[in-house]
Amino acid sequence: MDENRASAPIASIDVSAYDVPTDGKESDGTLEWDKTTVVVVEIAAGNERGIGWTYGARVAADLVRDELAGVLRGKSAFAIQELRARMDQQVRNMGRRGIASMAIAAVEACLWDLKAKLLGVPLVVLLGWGRPCVPIYGSGGFTSYPDERLREQLGRWVAEGIPRVKLKVGREPSRDVHRVRVVRDVVGDAQIFVDANGAYTRKQALELSRAFADLGVVWFEEPVSSEDLEGLRFLRHRVPAGIDVTAGEYGYDLSYFRRMLERGAVDVLQADATRCGVLNFLGADALCVGFSTPFSAHCAPTLHAHLGCAARRLEHLEYFHDHVRIEHMLFDGAPSPRQGALWPDLSRPGFGVELKRADARKFAV
Ligand SMILES: [Mg+2]
Repeated sequence: MDENRASAPIASIDVSAYDVPTDGKESDGTLEWDKTTVVVVEIAAGNERGIGWTYGARVAADLVRDELAGVLRGKSAFAIQELRARMDQQVRNMGRRGIASMAIAAVEACLWDLKAKLLGVPLVVLLGWGRPCVPIYGSGGFTSYPDERLREQLGRWVAEGIPRVKLKVGREPSRDVHRVRVVRDVVGDAQIFVDANGAYTRKQALELSRAFADLGVVWFEEPVSSEDLEGLRFLRHRVPAGIDVTAGEYGYDLSYFRRMLERGAVDVLQADATRCGVLNFLGADALCVGFSTPFSAHCAPTLHAHLGCAARRLEHLEYFHDHVRIEHMLFDGAPSPRQGALWPDLSRPGFGVELKRADARKFAV
């Protein structure tokens, strides 16, 4: 075997950031926004070029450029475990969670894409198949939407064959039961998920869970802050049995996921590989195996389609409106759902996507 092929030294690291305006006013229970920033990392080695990304702040791009690129240059693109450990070390003094973790996650995703390309296989083949596709749930239903838009968006997903949909709740608690009813009227038998993004108090969430259960809601995400593990556990044991209490999207490392599971805070653990990285995402999945707890992927559908097919406890991934839109605008090869699932494209290596440079340019920041 050619030693150069086995080592594939990293030749260059490029990073870019894009601000993509939303297609209307968007808010959830605790946040309002009018744009989404995607930070894209590209790494070249041995005639291939990997791509990885995260959704976060533009400053993550500076962090990749100023702090992480130097750690990577000249090292083997295949040494992902080593590079991940070095990057974690590099950001020790600035705090590993949050922005630093997102920057590392974008680089790590890129390294996995690059490795798969160097080996000439789709990423899911490199990681090892568990299934051919990942079930998805349509996610949007922002609290800023008038009823008509709520009906149109969630109704369309169900009409397209996606049998589960999620809306945001928590901004005006007195309107939330009405909004869920609007959705129930248009989605028929489809499953309804709600996400409060931590907006409710414990008692408020408990009371609303009963009305939600009457409307067939099966998923109650972050009814209280995901930092309130006691509160999540309190609700988990008191909401109607048909409702799962879920959280985990702000997890950056395995100790976070372990703590959430040890404390019995969730019925389903969520994780986001664009925040915690591929290795920690698969680690969270392994923890779910150990704790006999279902697992669900948060957002970034194109990236999670591959990881999700390799995860052992994954139930579904979040087909999030903003990210679906951005990934189809910026990435050639972003998958579209079939039969309520995403299917990794087996005809293309890595994540199976290329940055549409000309289209992306107008959003560059
Ligand atoms: Mg959420």
